[in-house]
Amino acid sequence: MRDTLASNPVDCMKYVVVTGGVLSGLGKGITASSIGVLLKSAGLRLSSVKIDPYLNSDAGTMSPFEHGEVFVLDDGGEVDLDLGNYERFLDLALTRENNITTGKVYANVIEKERRGDYLGKTVQVVPHITNEIQDWIERVAHVSADGSGQTPDACVIELGGTVGDIESAPFIEALRQFQFRVGQENVCFVHVSLVPVMGPVGEQKTKPTQHTVKELRGLGIIPDILVCRSENPLEDDTRAKLAAFCHVGKDAVVSAHDVSNLYQIPISLYHQSVLSKVANHLGFEVPDSLPMLDDWREMADKVDTLTEDVHIAMVGKYTGLSDSYLSVIKALQHSAFAVDRKLVIDWIESADLDPIEKTEKHDEAWALLKSADGILVPGGFGVRGIEGKIAAANYARVNNVPYLGVCLGLQIATIEFCRNVLGLEGANSTEFDEDTPNPAVVFMPEISKTHMGGTMRLGTKPTPFLVDDCKIRRLYGDAEHVDERHRHRYEVNPELIEQIEAAGLVYVGKDETGQRCEIMELQDHPYFVGTQYHPEFKSRPNRPSPPFLGLLKAAVGQEI
Ligand code: GLN
Repeated sequence: MRDTLASNPVDCMKYVVVTGGVLSGLGKGITASSIGVLLKSAGLRLSSVKIDPYLNSDAGTMSPFEHGEVFVLDDGGEVDLDLGNYERFLDLALTRENNITTGKVYANVIEKERRGDYLGKTVQVVPHITNEIQDWIERVAHVSADGSGQTPDACVIELGGTVGDIESAPFIEALRQFQFRVGQENVCFVHVSLVPVMGPVGEQKTKPTQHTVKELRGLGIIPDILVCRSENPLEDDTRAKLAAFCHVGKDAVVSAHDVSNLYQIPISLYHQSVLSKVANHLGFEVPDSLPMLDDWREMADKVDTLTEDVHIAMVGKYTGLSDSYLSVIKALQHSAFAVDRKLVIDWIESADLDPIEKTEKHDEAWALLKSADGILVPGGFGVRGIEGKIAAANYARVNNVPYLGVCLGLQIATIEFCRNVLGLEGANSTEFDEDTPNPAVVFMPEISKTHMGGTMRLGTKPTPFLVDDCKIRRLYGDAEHVDERHRHRYEVNPELIEQIEAAGLVYVGKDETGQRCEIMELQDHPYFVGTQYHPEFKSRPNRPSPPFLGLLKAAVGQEI
């Protein structure tokens, strides 16, 4: 018997594989992480794998416009934002190995071919690529991901994209073979599909799901559970029809209808017996009481009861696309929840705040900024909208409005301070103005100027606190140091630190060399904090990220 939680011993690794059909964006990731919540509640240790069938090695070079935020892991892996969902829902700490892409798989196989590992054989998609995928899944599934150091009991695998896409074909084939490699009784296939509503009587249409399941079965995978995205709960007839045409039992047709908040999804799946179905298939017992799920339900219900608003102005440049700031939004939500408020994010396109180049929406944007309870400048790259962000930081500093600057947001606050407090004319980051007379933020010496992928200062690094008592340190529970995740190329100019600090903007945390500024806090201000790292990546529903919690506390007038 392997070393597992006593309540739910499993004899070998169990896998839940989540695929999707009809169209993308149906919430495969949320379905997979919600099933993870159920498995975890039943006492299983978990890991998870996200497969992205694109050719990029990782998400690091992908535009947030196209692909949402780049999520950063402890080991510096720049990965798909779904890994953030897994980390948050399941309280895991994953590695870059937990995100498999076509690019990574091919790179490995080609390297092996060059090394001569295939002993003169013709190297082909089947079996070499498909074997590589299976080896990878099996290897990474066994690596502890919950901080316990113990081997997981189960691994939740999500295949990105839609079944039938050319690019996902090798992965589907690998997963088809995988069920025989590890035993069909150890793999549970969950297919997520769409049930649209059409016509005058609002009929739930089953045909798209019928087609996608037919496609999946044609590729050799028979779903054990069908999760159907729909506006309203599936009607009984719809379930019966889907069961008849899709080769699943009626009780295996699950409704993923709209719910009041995301945290209700695991609860809704539980009420439809998804946990017992998965447990039956994979052969483990579900304990009579599930305290973790009870806590989860309490949290989900509490979110529904919050009525009093707190307004946070988010000054960014991808404001039309909330996925671009997904982890920041989550960290704000976790913190709003902790101060019993309903979060309202006022999205402000930073270019609209530019005091010189006024856009049509200038006045509207300023009115929104001024009405907010707190201001957040998130991470970002490139010069567009920079002057608007600097103006927002200035407004927050001068008017005692709570401010949190994340990564670029710290750099922005520093530039603003250099210009308007120290009087350093034209102070800027060399990222935005290479010839600035007063470089307040500069390129870090160790960073590559020629290669984009994976070359930033990335991942978790320790930041010791250098000041005994300050708000941000109190928020971190008076910790000696913090371990947070980074993703940047520029830093506060070390030559200006003394001058800046003497004027009241103190870098209360620096890196281990004592040179690189990591955490700033303005003296004599309710809350004016910046972090060079991205604290949002480690925020959890029941453990909000301290810098975000500080922003929300200050925004609602709570003592820090
Ligand atoms: N562009 C800035 C840098 O590279 C900030 C990066 C960020 O906000 N993630 O340093």
